[in-house]
Amino acid sequence: MIDALHGRNLIKGEWVATDRTFMSNPASGPAHQVFAGNAGLVDRAAQAAEEAFWSYGFSRREDRAAFLQAIANEIEARIEPITRIGSQETGLPIVRLQSECGRTANQLRLFARHIVDGAYLDRRVDPALPDRQPAPRPEIRMMQRPVGPVAVFGASNFPLAFSTAGGDTAAALAAGCPVLVKGHPAHPGTGEIVAEAILAAIKARGIAPGVFSLIQGDDRSVGEALVLHPLVKAVGFTGSLAGGRALFDLCASRAEPIPFFGELGSVNPVFVLPAALDARAEEMGRGWAASLAMGAGQFCTKPGIAFVPAGDAGDVFVAAAADALAAVSPQAMLTDGIVAAFCAGKQAFDDSDVIRKVVANNVQGRAAGASLYEISGDAFGADDTLAEEIFGPIGLVVRVARPEAMLPLAHCLSGQLTATLQIDDGDRPLAGRLLPVLERKAGRMLVNGYPTGVEVVDSMIHGGPYPASTNFGATSVGTLSIRRFLRPVAYQNVPLDLLPEDLAAFS
Ligand code: NAP
Repeated sequence: MIDALHGRNLIKGEWVATDRTFMSNPASGPAHQVFAGNAGLVDRAAQAAEEAFWSYGFSRREDRAAFLQAIANEIEARIEPITRIGSQETGLPIVRLQSECGRTANQLRLFARHIVDGAYLDRRVDPALPDRQPAPRPEIRMMQRPVGPVAVFGASNFPLAFSTAGGDTAAALAAGCPVLVKGHPAHPGTGEIVAEAILAAIKARGIAPGVFSLIQGDDRSVGEALVLHPLVKAVGFTGSLAGGRALFDLCASRAEPIPFFGELGSVNPVFVLPAALDARAEEMGRGWAASLAMGAGQFCTKPGIAFVPAGDAGDVFVAAAADALAAVSPQAMLTDGIVAAFCAGKQAFDDSDVIRKVVANNVQGRAAGASLYEISGDAFGADDTLAEEIFGPIGLVVRVARPEAMLPLAHCLSGQLTATLQIDDGDRPLAGRLLPVLERKAGRMLVNGYPTGVEVVDSMIHGGPYPASTNFGATSVGTLSIRRFLRPVAYQNVPLDLLPEDLAAFS
């Protein structure tokens, strides 16, 4: 199947070539030719999506659930070629991609169960009050409805779970929205095989073929055309702050602005409180290092900054983290662009007068070893740029003179996907003061754990105030993520036989 990669775009059930190509740039293995999408192709895909909406957007929940199950089965049937090309393209190990493939299929099945359950429709009925004075009240019913065609942008670091058939696609299809995926240029072959799986499910279930399109692209033109297309009604984006902000601004500039759900970057601060530090400094230093170096530090949930009190126990924490990071073998980074951004961020630390180098590994080609730096709380608090995400295997320990000094530093942080407290019983008073501050900053609060690894469950929130995401009311992981692609509609005095079946049947 890898040998048969054709590099075409999937539009309304057909594989379409264009007159411009680009080559993939895999970490290993042969490069493939890919047909670059363009504005004309985006228009064809959007027209097909709108056409499909008139059936798919009004389909039975059970039928959409069966479609999601079929996609999951078709992906699992292709797990060998998907993980093989995925590993070549991204440099991520096969075992990591096998587990990501399982997560991707499970996400689809979770949404299938979720929509059959029906609670997501949030149906409400206020009965008529014909005798109310001074005026009668009509019956009012409310239900969530799909918004229409949705554009999805996946990220390079999750070629499966946050990409072609990832969480955004699963949530949108579950809601009843056709999906137009902008293929990520870092894994076009992976995207193509996953799109083949979706096409097989479309055919098997007799769904309108415009329900899913894959448009490949290696420059901004496809993404810009997608978010500006008048038939696109919402955007799910996972990626960099710069890219997400540019597309968010474009969405706002439209004659009809549309919601842009960008899941962006975060430094995911870890606050190590003194009693915990006294009790288990070494263990926490190792644990933090393992979490930040996982997958070459290329997780949006990488805990990039640890706040640690000055003193001997803090020194033990730093030494343990340094030993653990020094022992990490260099790992392949995802793209040349990510390597360049990582090197620039690391260079800024190297050039700084106030940052101390603890462990510094260089980058060779795409392979990066892990690095560790240390700074005082005062110096950190004086420079906002130090709290920005550096995507890759690098960590910064902020040494605070007194544990209470963590509070003003926490106040200064911008929006985060996660914030973590490492505490023991003696830390409860300070933890009780930090928690309300951090809760205003982050979508997920952790105690005595590490934020890498995101459970896909009903209660998960993977989002947060800007710049962690562009919409603090949303999550891109877990069943609540379906709400991004729904719109509440009230039906006032509408006869039962004209109501959507789901609402007419509800009392
Ligand atoms: P990226 O460079 O922003 O790319 C994401 C997608 O957006 C690509 O398809 C890219 O296509 C497109 N794009 C980027 N800028 C664009 C622009 N100005 N106009 C039009 N299209 C644009 O992100 P990445 O490097 O793949 O992913 C790494 C980043 O994602 C990290 O910062 C990481 O923290 C973040 N991330 C966040 C989450 C989360 O849930 N919060 C999860 C995973 C990763 P082209 O290159 O073809 O333009």
